[in-house]
Amino acid sequence: MSHDTSKSERFFHQAADHLGLSTRMRTLLLVPERDVKVQVAIRLDNGDVETFIGYRIQHDSARGPMKGGLRFHPEVDEDEVRTLAQLMTWKTAVVDLPYGGAKGGIAVDPRSLSKAELERLTRKFVDQIHDMVGPDTDIPAPDMGTNSQVMAWFMNQYQAHHGFQPACVTGKPLELHGCEGREEATGRGVVVVAERLFHHLGEKLAGKTVALQGFGNVGSFCAKILNERGAKVVAIADQRGGVKNAAGLDIPALLAYAQKNDGVAGFPGVDPCSNAELFASQVDILIPAALGGQLTAETAPTVRARYIVEAANDPTTPEADEIFLQKGITVVPDILANAGGVTVSYFEWVQNRSVVHWPLEEIRNRLEQRMSAAFDSVWQIAQDKKVSLRTAAYILGIGRVARATELAGVS
Ligand code: GLU
Repeated sequence: MSHDTSKSERFFHQAADHLGLSTRMRTLLLVPERDVKVQVAIRLDNGDVETFIGYRIQHDSARGPMKGGLRFHPEVDEDEVRTLAQLMTWKTAVVDLPYGGAKGGIAVDPRSLSKAELERLTRKFVDQIHDMVGPDTDIPAPDMGTNSQVMAWFMNQYQAHHGFQPACVTGKPLELHGCEGREEATGRGVVVVAERLFHHLGEKLAGKTVALQGFGNVGSFCAKILNERGAKVVAIADQRGGVKNAAGLDIPALLAYAQKNDGVAGFPGVDPCSNAELFASQVDILIPAALGGQLTAETAPTVRARYIVEAANDPTTPEADEIFLQKGITVVPDILANAGGVTVSYFEWVQNRSVVHWPLEEIRNRLEQRMSAAFDSVWQIAQDKKVSLRTAAYILGIGRVARATELAGVS
């Protein structure tokens, strides 16, 4: 999916209009601080040399060190990383973390590499960018196609250049300065905001039906926690196929099955489900938790859910957003809904910097509090200004970054 940066900037301008931001301030906020593209050449196990392209785009540091994931995916390109870096700036501001935004990635299918090749790729990338990242400047984390193992290699290679610096990256394994609950954090945060939405509507999440696109790290924890909180997940699709059952899918069994079989397809006793069917499911809540650009002018008119909670980054095009607005579908936007991951990354960074370890219950409570508070602030802005939750979240995030930028001044 190729990204059109000017398209996703439409969300920015809708909020900037409400904030009355000048053209000069808009330009200052939109232009990334640094945009880096590097060659990442490694030797494959068979002796051949393969060249990959890596990116790190540092969008904005007005509110603190820049923060954002590292994506290993064949569709990674400069436009996509730039869009995602900008989203991180607004996201960290919406949940009021003392961070700016960045994003990185390598255009590669990690499934096509051996573990040793993946390690060499990660280490080579760190060698190329170590001077521009660090605990006080820019802190990477997992994203699509990367995990705690990749973060462990990242930290180890960074430390080869800079000495003991566990806070240089988050999402590390528990055994290597990682944080309790970091893996589940994005999925848990999605469920927390869904619950908060229904709280404001005088309804309950329990009993609601859900269709979920994506069963990777975010989607699988979404399903697990939704199930624990009494919601009924009736359809799930991943890269290889989908499954549906109007009576509700057996989530613990499906989690075990998907792990063994590399996906949900073929899960016994239920019907298959295509992506198109999933989007058009007659459910209360639709959760995109996979790639960006999924809900478009083509797919949006088919959506029958009343609520959309964006667990993925950038899943909805501006055209689709407009269609949802007209259809009266409430959308909880990505920069609020999926901020649980970076929130717990922040907890990891805080613990690393003071060399302490907080228990899981503490992490969960802090996450719940921060996400609920952010949701309530966004909800209030939406009520006061009579705007969508997306525009409200952008008003909150962009407003905070603009104020910090103004207060700091430009020399
Ligand atoms: N990749 C995640 C995101 O898109 C987490 C970023 C982080 O923890 O820094 O929000």
